[in-house]
Amino acid sequence: MPPVPDGTVHPFSPGGPSERGLVTYPEKAVAEYRATGYWTGRTLPAELRAAAHEHADRQALITPEVALTYEELFTLAENFAAGLVEATELWPGDAVMFQMGNVAETVVSYLGCLLAGIRPVCTLPQHGVREISVLARHVGARGLILQADFGRGQLPDQARQLMSDGVITEVVVARGPAFGSALTYDALLRVGEVVDSAHLPYHSLSPDQIAVFQLSGGTTGLPKVAPRLHEEYTYNSVAWATTLNWGPGTVALYPLPIMHNAGISVGLQPALLTGATLVLAPTAGIPALLDLIEATRPDALPLVPPALAVRLLEEPRSRQVDLSSIKTFIVGGQKLALETAERLRDVLGISIRQKFGMAEGMFLVTPSDAGEEVRHHTVGSPISPADEIRILHPDGKSEVPDGALGELCVRGPYTIRGYFRAEQHNAAAFTADGFYRTGDLARRRIVDGMAYYSIDGRIKDVINRGVEKIHADEVEELIMRHPDVVNAALVAMPDKVLGERGCAYLVLKPAAAPPTVASLGVFLLGEGLARYKLPERVELIESLPLSNVGKVAKKALREDIAMKLAAEPHV
Ligand code: AMP
Repeated sequence: MPPVPDGTVHPFSPGGPSERGLVTYPEKAVAEYRATGYWTGRTLPAELRAAAHEHADRQALITPEVALTYEELFTLAENFAAGLVEATELWPGDAVMFQMGNVAETVVSYLGCLLAGIRPVCTLPQHGVREISVLARHVGARGLILQADFGRGQLPDQARQLMSDGVITEVVVARGPAFGSALTYDALLRVGEVVDSAHLPYHSLSPDQIAVFQLSGGTTGLPKVAPRLHEEYTYNSVAWATTLNWGPGTVALYPLPIMHNAGISVGLQPALLTGATLVLAPTAGIPALLDLIEATRPDALPLVPPALAVRLLEEPRSRQVDLSSIKTFIVGGQKLALETAERLRDVLGISIRQKFGMAEGMFLVTPSDAGEEVRHHTVGSPISPADEIRILHPDGKSEVPDGALGELCVRGPYTIRGYFRAEQHNAAAFTADGFYRTGDLARRRIVDGMAYYSIDGRIKDVINRGVEKIHADEVEELIMRHPDVVNAALVAMPDKVLGERGCAYLVLKPAAAPPTVASLGVFLLGEGLARYKLPERVELIESLPLSNVGKVAKKALREDIAMKLAAEPHV
């Protein structure tokens, strides 16, 4: 880490360059959250380090490759942090992009960054050069931590491109073959071993600063990035762990990508803050998941997307594996079909709970002891007594009565008050008194005198493909660069397993050859779109239908494709 040049403000000082563009909590709310003890006045790395001291000999992390105690995991993380400080030009307050899969090195690097005062940006290994560039520029990230052996091994080439474009200046290969001038994981750990880790930068952080950047929107236009602050992000994880009764002895198996808000705040942090064991599945594949269930006998699967639950039901081996250790099986991230909940109960003997959550904060979950009316039909109630929910009328001002559909708007001790450096988005996405407009349609339902919420639709233009979000405007903007396309609309088409997939309606230039799904995909990959966002069906149309206010009538297109699919023979 280079010294701070004379006369410049240290980037990590409150209000310094790296904090510019941060909309934070009003003083009154901060005072209240601290007075009630929800916020502790300590930083995320300080809390994680304290938990690791307390539970030193317990199992912290299990993957199919390694098992690490808290002592072992945090020694690695401290060495990684000390190595980052010593061997890179990164300063505390800098941000680093992550392109890592579900491997132990990801957990070590994430913790290492926090201990070095460096902010992880939870980007995915599936993101392309364009997406990483846009996001890195937006948050001011100069570093990249990558897994060189991820997928088809494409990440080193991407990293070279990002370096030659001048977007990224520091690359750490946290796993896989070394390349060029990139630092390797082993080299960083070796450097770290000879540095005094007692003086790591996290000691001088302040709890009201940004700890981690989470992603929300797409990457065209102005990105939506959720700045998660030390105190509130810690509380989010602690509140979740408390709600689920986690502590020493709990074994939590996480089957989804860990470098995502859900992975961090439903799995990694709640486990490591409470002395529990995190089991990380390498992929969301059912055979690997069943192997890990047999090997580790988990108590909790804290987030299973409906698509994974359906695959679990379809796999005959699920009936042979002993699932009896699993006391908590939480389905979330997407609307759950009632049929799936009932089949999990009847076929596998699993009594589900449901969860709603998002990168911006707010988690809801159904109580473990609630009846099926609540567990099968709602996503429960918020996890903190200080969480506030309003179901707003489309006018955005008044609340709708109980049972009526309206926009879910939320505020509380771990829900952001604004996206990072996004004044324009913030004006539309938050009410004047700081409630986040989720863009989800919900109802408040009273059951036995208690309030629960169900998610019954969406206003925002997003496709939820097996919990991976595809922002229609991002894909449409890139499709519009196609030389044969005059106009385009991406809409959700129903899918039995993934819930939704993207269907592109295209208006072509006269006499243009119609693109196929494959040729459009090649074009969009070339434009830097991540593979999981590619349209999976193309429909040609003479002109896009418009609503009476002149917007593309996507509802009509969704109905059109749903009807076409229903009329087609099932394969
Ligand atoms: P993300 O920020 O990627 O976690 O996505 C958050 C969004 O996922 C929410 O705003 C909802 O649209 C959707 N979502 C999350 N959980 C559920 C759920 N249980 N039911 C329906 N939609 C959900």
